Amino acid sequence: KISVRELKKSFGSNQVLKGLDVDIAEGEVVCVIGPSGSGKSTFLRCLNKLEDITGGTVTVNGFDLTDPKVDLNAVRQNIGMVFQHFNLFPHMSVIQNIMLAPVELKKLDKAAARAKGMELLKRVGLAEKADARPASLSGGQKQRVAIARALAMNPGIMLFDEATSALDPEMVGEVLQVIRDLAAEGMTMVVVTHEMGFAREVADRVIFMDGGYICEEGSPEAIFSNAQQPRLQEFLAKVL
Ligand code: ATP
Ligand code: MG
Repeated sequence: KISVRELKKSFGSNQVLKGLDVDIAEGEVVCVIGPSGSGKSTFLRCLNKLEDITGGTVTVNGFDLTDPKVDLNAVRQNIGMVFQHFNLFPHMSVIQNIMLAPVELKKLDKAAARAKGMELLKRVGLAEKADARPASLSGGQKQRVAIARALAMNPGIMLFDEATSALDPEMVGEVLQVIRDLAAEGMTMVVVTHEMGFAREVADRVIFMDGGYICEEGSPEAIFSNAQQPRLQEFLAKVL
């Protein structure tokens, strides 16, 4: 469970988040949409404290991330994050990429980490690529490996930041399918996306950010078929 209260974030004099209040329940899938520069990525990065938090609080499973004494590693081990660019280690095979964190951080023995990694590769449809190097994979395959790598830590929460926006169109579907499957399995997820059809289909709730605020939020139906705020209406008119 995630609770965000009055979250503010500034870079120098640029206030990017101007006071966000959000609660995300266990098993909930929240999609975040909004124009470029509205603070979506910054918001996501505050949820595992990849950014210093300027004001307010972020509480994840009872851990207050703004408490200087919080064990950030423990918090982060429970949060998987997938970015637009996959950041796989090029000198390691696919399975080695996936095994790395469980072996190094969770001290899992290699055989168990490999078995778990193979199970995850099967789940994302890439079992036959275990020994391949990332460079030999397509963008969609790399992103599915990146998701498997995040899942290898058994996170309770997954964060996705435009996981499909660097992909060729024909590869978007295979990655969205993996995210869709995770949603169906009850994973708690915050998904920043510009795939409006996908948000409409998988989200329990959609948050529209604009100018560092949550401008409007609601069910996919409310957001996409019954937008209230003019800024959301304008945004949707441009992207739909
Ligand atoms: P996009 O849809 O283009 O990804 P976004 O909604 O994710 O946009 P953010 O990346 O959160 O937007 O950026 C919001 C604002 O914060 C922008 O004005 C950006 O320039 C600024 N910003 C983000 N990261 C930094 C940083 N590390 N240092 C300084 N300014 C930053
Ligand atoms: Mg962004």
